[in-house]
Amino acid sequence: MENLRIVILGRQGSGKGTQCLRLGESYGVIHISTGDMLRAAVESQTELGQKAKAIMDAGDLVSDEIINAIVAQRIGMNDVSENGFILDGYPRTASQAQALEEELLVKGLKLDLAINLEVPVSEVTQRMLDRSRADDTEEAIRRRLEIYENETTPLLEWFEDRNNLVVVSGLGPEDEVFSRLKGVIDGIISEN
Ligand code: ADP
Repeated sequence: MENLRIVILGRQGSGKGTQCLRLGESYGVIHISTGDMLRAAVESQTELGQKAKAIMDAGDLVSDEIINAIVAQRIGMNDVSENGFILDGYPRTASQAQALEEELLVKGLKLDLAINLEVPVSEVTQRMLDRSRADDTEEAIRRRLEIYENETTPLLEWFEDRNNLVVVSGLGPEDEVFSRLKGVIDGIISEN
């Protein structure tokens, strides 16, 4: 089939970042992580980074307008048109899902698959407390999960309505989760 275009949804701490990195390498598609892009902007103190830092530290979402522009620009780059993408951390709101759909539509493209990497709230909370990243204070974790439930969970229905959604359990060892994800993606590839 032609290039794969995949979205991965999953709560913070679901292991989505690690799995997306491995899947990107394994299938030769470009891993686009909005969190990584924003952290890089903070690190290099760009104008965007300076705006985003406080928002990220508080566990809030950067505005749809900003994030949609960043992703549209990234998706328009040659490496992504040539190899496809695996989107990690985007879309997270209804407006982002809509923007992505429109962005792909004007390019004559569509999404192949949306995967929900499912890990329950209790488990992801524990995992995040254990990894102790700088922005993983207990308050920020609680806030980020709450925003996820409110803003991102409704997208499951959005993708289901478009027959794009597959749910994969993110529980168990990393390699096992990876095999599960590969199984689903290989299935899509063989259908096309
Ligand atoms: P997490 O999944 O733990 O929130 P990410 O690396 O995906 O970690 O994102 C880190 C932060 O970057 C988020 O808390 C949010 O502030 C911002 N961010 C990332 N992706 C988006 C997005 N699609 N929309 C708005 N803000 C985003």
